[in-house]
Amino acid sequence: MEEINEYIKYIKSSNNPLSSNVFLIKGVKNNYIFDVGANKVSREIIKDIDSKIIIISHFHTDHMDNMKYFSNEKLYIGDYTYKILGYGNVVNNILEINDGINLKIVHIPNSHAKGSLCLIINDLYLLIGDSLEGNRYGLNVSLLYDEIKLLKSLKYEYILTSHNDEILKKEEVIKYLELCYSKKEKNKPYIGYDVLS
Ligand SMILES: [Zn+2]
Repeated sequence: MEEINEYIKYIKSSNNPLSSNVFLIKGVKNNYIFDVGANKVSREIIKDIDSKIIIISHFHTDHMDNMKYFSNEKLYIGDYTYKILGYGNVVNNILEINDGINLKIVHIPNSHAKGSLCLIINDLYLLIGDSLEGNRYGLNVSLLYDEIKLLKSLKYEYILTSHNDEILKKEEVIKYLELCYSKKEKNKPYIGYDVLS
């Protein structure tokens, strides 16, 4: 288990099976889990945590396959994840939880997956899932515009993604996304990987 600070830890992502980072956030009353991953290591650790509240970033298998073992826990998800799981509390905008720590579950527009959620912890860390990544066409211009606008408006300093150990700075990520946005071409809904690289 990796430690970010005294209240945020995470189980590292894996490639075989493909499984996202699983973030564990300690509140006073509850333990919050951001994505449950898809590997056995994550499953075993999550199993032993009491008073769980689960938040799923998006509906891809590597982020939520282990939900089949934890379907009785309190769950927050986006609308597309709800379409697949069929249960859980849908967050459409922002949901704030105060439990010794301050959590904000925020719906984030992005090209990677519809109905994605991110999580802000104590106005300091933003867990963004895969929302910085595109889909097979690249980055959708209007979703990227909305995503940049949202990421600028929220209060936090660092961004943690789901498949590596990097801690990114807010300004650097916004600068990178604005650079991507500047490469949009007239009448093209997507900024393709050919122009992004
Ligand atoms: Zn994904």
